[in-house]
Amino acid sequence: MPIHCTICERIKLIQQHQNPYFVRELTTGYVVLADSQYFEGYTLFLAKSHVTELHHLAAHDQLLFLEEMSLVQEACAQAFHADKMNIELLGNGDAHVHWHLFPRHTGDTAQPGPIWWTPLETIYGDDVQQDQLRLTRLKRTLNTALDSVLQRRQVEHHTVQHLTLPATDTD
Ligand SMILES: [Zn+2]
Repeated sequence: MPIHCTICERIKLIQQHQNPYFVRELTTGYVVLADSQYFEGYTLFLAKSHVTELHHLAAHDQLLFLEEMSLVQEACAQAFHADKMNIELLGNGDAHVHWHLFPRHTGDTAQPGPIWWTPLETIYGDDVQQDQLRLTRLKRTLNTALDSVLQRRQVEHHTVQHLTLPATDTD
């Protein structure tokens, strides 16, 4: 861990059961709700390792991280009835690799475009922790969708394994 990394600190809070935004631990990362829910359902997927670029992850971890992110964003779409998902990996402020997953709804910005066209004080002026009932409801909704998406993927993997098994010589 570097001298100061906000995301490593947030992960430490998850491990100490003290991060109110925590939703789910997956193999390569942590699913958390964003502090601000101006765009309701705004979710983050934080890499477990402190790396600053996707390509700094080992090949196997990189693929698994991408697959898990894809499942998390699908769950997010399902949970919050997104008309469109926006997915971003930026890290210009906090360099630790993390995905921003935004369920978007028609008309949620003044003009169709990225959420960043909305003033930052509006986006970040809505700390969901101030409303515990809402935070609990959003986490429960996302967790239920994650259960469904992750279970489906397990079944798909099982099917793929069967399909790719070498044919046995029974003749
Ligand atoms: Zn970090």
